[in-house]
Amino acid sequence: MLSMTGDILIVEDEPAIADAIAYALKTEGFLPHRVTTGAEALAHVRSGASRLVILDVGLPDLSGFEVCRRLRAFSDVPVLFLTARSEEVDRVLGLEIGGDDYVAKPFSPRELVARVRVILRRLERPEAASPKLFEHDAAGRRVRFRGQALDLTRYEYLLLRTLLEQPERIFTRAQLMEQVWSGAEESSDRTVDTHVKTLRAKLRALDPESDPIQTHRGVGYSLSVRG
Ligand code: CA
Repeated sequence: MLSMTGDILIVEDEPAIADAIAYALKTEGFLPHRVTTGAEALAHVRSGASRLVILDVGLPDLSGFEVCRRLRAFSDVPVLFLTARSEEVDRVLGLEIGGDDYVAKPFSPRELVARVRVILRRLERPEAASPKLFEHDAAGRRVRFRGQALDLTRYEYLLLRTLLEQPERIFTRAQLMEQVWSGAEESSDRTVDTHVKTLRAKLRALDPESDPIQTHRGVGYSLSVRG
């Protein structure tokens, strides 16, 4: 979830750099929170306290890339990478990492804070103008897609709900069968594929441009919630 409040998480094991960033953020009215390892970073993001993560690529435990990859399994929080080498920049810009921007070392803390501001403005302001991709009303068992209500059958809803609960996670057909069709009388190998197909058609009817359900050949499906 994107948050208008919360801290800016600094994941950096070099104290001098972390100090400089924290100081610059504080001066500009942000609330910095510092950790030095990938594991601490993941735990902190999981708690939902951060509105943005400044992530060094070179950390003592996990690489920043690995931290970002794991984080993307459960969070959309924007990630600004700190890179030390140009080959790292190439990877950050690669879509598979899921980073939002990068700053190359050495950098000026003021420039870094300016980047933070740009990312937050870009991500937090357009919410009113462009509706979220999915809005899930769990109590009412309803889902809206691009601001419009989806008319789903029971199993389409359960399937979508399962995918929505863990965006970007790849579910195998067997896992989806177990979560969605447990206890169902009639199901077959084709059940999952058939329902994905009808669900996709309903999403496409509301927005022909987006195809948020991804097929992973020979594996299963995942859902992207990033518009
Ligand atoms: Ca480092």
